Amino acid sequence: MGKKQDKFTVEKAIFDEHIQASGLRRTGQRDLILDIFLSTEDHLTSDDLYLLVHRKDPSVGHTTVYRTLKLLTEAGLAREVRFGDNKTYYEHHYNHDHHDHMICTECGKVIEFFSADIESMQDEMADKFGFKPTHHSLRMWGVCAECQKLSLASHTAPAGAQPRVRVKTAIN
Ligand SMILES: [Zn+2]
Ligand SMILES: [Zn+2]
Ligand SMILES: [Zn+2]
Repeated sequence: MGKKQDKFTVEKAIFDEHIQASGLRRTGQRDLILDIFLSTEDHLTSDDLYLLVHRKDPSVGHTTVYRTLKLLTEAGLAREVRFGDNKTYYEHHYNHDHHDHMICTECGKVIEFFSADIESMQDEMADKFGFKPTHHSLRMWGVCAECQKLSLASHTAPAGAQPRVRVKTAIN
């Protein structure tokens, strides 16, 4: 992992600064959590990240992971996202351009997308209402291309079935 750790120099500097400003100290556990968070491009819950961290260091507790994620969010390195399953997911924020999400209600796949047209239409709409938007999150729920193929192949889905949101992560 020696080389990999040099990859996130800027992120680590930002985190260090935030930790110090919060009157906290840098610890090996916090560094490990940051490393693992930055190494995955997935949308992770605190529990997901805990499982990944636990594989590397079983002595790290749930609470430490949760608190560190909060610190990462405050520092602007992580951002919270919700996909309609009552869980809070975290994704990279620093150096990651704005994007929106499509969520498959069958398999839980999350597709990231960006449309300059949609963005400017949202701004126009806000203008129309004299509204000053600070941020937004556009989410579409539906069925991904693969699941549509699968359901064509089996068409066994019961009529009126409740949409299920099971977001897929690296931990399975
Ligand atoms: Zn957007
Ligand atoms: Zn799907
Ligand atoms: Zn995302």
